[in-house]
Amino acid sequence: MPQFDPELLYVECGRCGRPVIWRPGDTTRILEAAGVDLSQLDEGCLLVTEGCPECSPEQKTYSSQVVRFNQPLEDRPKPPNP
Ligand SMILES: [Zn+2]
Repeated sequence: MPQFDPELLYVECGRCGRPVIWRPGDTTRILEAAGVDLSQLDEGCLLVTEGCPECSPEQKTYSSQVVRFNQPLEDRPKPPNP
């Protein structure tokens, strides 16, 4: 069974909501720095970062967390009901 390539993980900025495009190899490096077990990742995962080069260019590093699509994103603000 081929291992999921962490470079294919979708990365989104949790601050501005933009998709984040790292340079090749950066996603793997960030995941390893965050202590994420790469063998547990699959295409149902999403990496959410605290800031990105677009909205937080002064930051050198961005903390991140892996979110699974099939789990409720409880941290996300919900749109107000009309
Ligand atoms: Zn951002």
